[in-house]
Parts: sequence; structure tokens; C-alpha cells
Amino acid sequence: MEQIEKFRQDILNSASEAPHIVSLKEETRLTGGLPIIRDMGRTWALKADLSVVLLYTDCWESENKSGFGEIIEDNVIRSFVIAYAAIDYPELVSLVLERPANTTDCMCSGKDDLNIFGETCKICNSVGWIPSQWLSK
Ligand SMILES: [Zn+2]
Repeated sequence: MEQIEKFRQDILNSASEAPHIVSLKEETRLTGGLPIIRDMGRTWALKADLSVVLLYTDCWESENKSGFGEIIEDNVIRSFVIAYAAIDYPELVSLVLERPANTTDCMCSGKDDLNIFGETCKICNSVGWIPSQWLSK
């Protein structure tokens, strides 16, 4: 998927030294993918071969900084990351698969609320569902 690689290069070539851009560049470099979901210590990135890499970013201060992330085999999480990616990168919408089983409705009920309130859901990014197993963690 060359679109993904193009978006990666756009990030890597950014001249900005702003801290949030610097960490985005680092996550882009370390994962070999396009960072899609990022929280306080974890980044899920989508690679050009459509695999998903999870990088733990909260251990960067330790000697573990050289980690390159682990490939996520779970297809539900993979579908979620792709659906989430299509919100930020509409060019990737053709990749979106059907909503898998073993998912839970988000309380925002998806994109309808995006239209009503003009805001993106902070939990599902207005995808409308989340992998069930994320709730039990
Ligand atoms: Zn939501």
C-alpha cells in the first residue's frame, strides 16, 4: 500500500522540531509503519503490508529504547486500526473491512454523532465500535 509509505515519508521529512512531531517521527521510524492510535505509552502503527505494530513508548527513557514494536496478529484490532486510520487518512478508506465479530458498540454510536456535534469521539475516533477485549484490560 504505497499511500501508507507516502504518509510515512511526509512525517519523516517534516522539518518541525515541535516535541509532538519529534515523537511522531520517532514512532514512525521505530515501527516502520504509520502511527495511527497513540496513547500515553503505546502506539499502534499500520504498515504498508497492512500489518499492525504495537510499540511501547513509555520505556523510551530506559535502556529498552531500541524496541521496534511487536506485530499484532489479532484481526479485530487490525480491523480497528485500519478503520481508525481511514478517519485521519480518508485516502485509506478503501482498506476498511467489515466490522468484525467480537466488537462492542462505542457509546458515541459512531459517525452520526460526529455530524451532530462536529467532534471526533476520543474513544473510537468515531468509528463507532471498539474491540471487545480492549474493555477488559
Ligand atoms: Zn466512539
